[in-house]
Amino acid sequence: MNYPFFRRKILGWYTHHARTLPWRGTIDPYRVWVSEIMLQQTTTQTVCRYFDRFLERFPTIRELAAANLDEVNRLWEGLGYYRRAAQLHRAAKEIVADHGGEFPLDVAVVRKLPGIGRYTAGAILSIAADQRLPILEANTIRLHARLLVVKGDTNRGEANRILWDFAEKILPKTGCGRFNQALMDLGNLVCMPKEPHCLRCPVVAFCESAKRGLQMQIPSPKSKVRIEERTEIAVIIRKKGKILLIKYPTGVRWAGLWDFPRCECLDGDDLPLPQRFSIITGRKIVIGRQIETLKHSVTRFRITLRFHEAQELGKISGDSSLYETRWATAQEMEHVPLNSTARKLWKNWRKTK
Ligand code: SF4
Repeated sequence: MNYPFFRRKILGWYTHHARTLPWRGTIDPYRVWVSEIMLQQTTTQTVCRYFDRFLERFPTIRELAAANLDEVNRLWEGLGYYRRAAQLHRAAKEIVADHGGEFPLDVAVVRKLPGIGRYTAGAILSIAADQRLPILEANTIRLHARLLVVKGDTNRGEANRILWDFAEKILPKTGCGRFNQALMDLGNLVCMPKEPHCLRCPVVAFCESAKRGLQMQIPSPKSKVRIEERTEIAVIIRKKGKILLIKYPTGVRWAGLWDFPRCECLDGDDLPLPQRFSIITGRKIVIGRQIETLKHSVTRFRITLRFHEAQELGKISGDSSLYETRWATAQEMEHVPLNSTARKLWKNWRKTK
């Protein structure tokens, strides 16, 4: 492959077609880092709604490090994959403690920060410090796999190694941040998953898939995830104008977020629901009328969530609850980080009052 010509084609196209995004045009490693973490597993459109608000509240690494994780999670609410927020927060603390609050520019050091892998380190340091580091994310995996006709699982093994090698080889000597962003935009806007626009692709002449008519077969389709249906029940328990909430601990779904007491309804489960809520909250609970039903999906689960009123008959002496609990006023409910369904249930419930 004629790499200089390939680069010129990519950069020429980018001059006219670069996406306008809130984090573009900055070489502040902190802003690039926040954008890259938000973009993991989340669409650009969604991130655009969160990025400025987050940076307004936490304009520096020091301010992020000094914040309470609950507040960080509240601003992350709706972005999903909350582990990212906790890792970002933890990494900010490490940067303040070990690097005087300045984002480190040594790739080996950056790779050791929580939540930063090879791709994220490459993106931050190539964009913010023009370091000659490759990137490989969803858009570039697809683009490179099609250019080279790489079959098999592109996320691991030999296929993944070929793609990283290629991403490294095509980098220019300088201007790597701009070049990496151009590749991502080309993948996103032209080499799209379902309908690649090969006729207006600046690198069609280099593309093996286009030559062989294999665009739709590359990358190889992922094996389908088996969807599981499940029913869960959440309860709103009020006492003296306050609402009972539970906090998910580390290592479980929605770790660090608050929710209405909630559990799965299991067929043939010996333990009656009130008892299961007692284990979760450490309180005697009587379940009342159903208020509404919500349907939502989390990873491979399609969940039917029944929302009920419930009453608390007091603490169970000597028993500790499975989850941390708290009573929140209506005003506090606006600031507590809730998972998306709890936020929706709360909004709907308030409308009826
Ligand atoms: Fe993708 Fe088509 Fe361009 Fe090949 S020619 S890189 S398949 S858009």
